[in-house]
Amino acid sequence: MAFTLPQLPYAFNALEPHIDALTMEIHSQRHHKAYVDNLNKAIDGHADLQKLDIASLLRNIKNVPEGIRQAVINNGGGHANHALFWEIMGPNGGGEPTGVIGDAIKAAFGDFAKMKDTVKANGGSQFGSGWSWVVYNPASGKLEAIKRPNQDSPLMDGLVPVLGVDVWEHAYYLKYQNKRPDYIDAWWNTVNWKAVEEKLAAAKAGK
Ligand code: MN
Repeated sequence: MAFTLPQLPYAFNALEPHIDALTMEIHSQRHHKAYVDNLNKAIDGHADLQKLDIASLLRNIKNVPEGIRQAVINNGGGHANHALFWEIMGPNGGGEPTGVIGDAIKAAFGDFAKMKDTVKANGGSQFGSGWSWVVYNPASGKLEAIKRPNQDSPLMDGLVPVLGVDVWEHAYYLKYQNKRPDYIDAWWNTVNWKAVEEKLAAAKAGK
């Protein structure tokens, strides 16, 4: 078994009232599990791919055999995206980021409010399923806001995600139904800025 489902670093109900416990349980234990299981099926028999970590697998997606490449994009992306998502949320989250991450946001977007507006606009305008991301671009040394469809990982484009909001309906439909913008507004209250800052530090270090 090459990849395993990570357990949440908090209880299913820890993000209430912003994200409900049932959504967290189904999202992590069924949706994320399916990505991990299907990734393992896709790379079964490919010992060279099984020994890679998930980021290396996605960064080198062009080296994945064509016959399984889309399955790795979908399910490997799904695994990497959700693993990050759980880590950058947490109980007692939200607020305005300060320190290194706060400064990086100001440098890239002007201020925190502008970054939030851009992330919300990207998430709201993603037709169908996908993610709204804040990534570190090693080429510019700055943060950027992007969106990607489905489970397409920014890692495939040489970008390093540090913050992302899942805008697939499975991420919010039980509590927010069709009101994706309301979900994104509430989601900010779950962000663990310390974890985001650690992602940025790792990205800058080339990890
Ligand atoms: Mn999801």
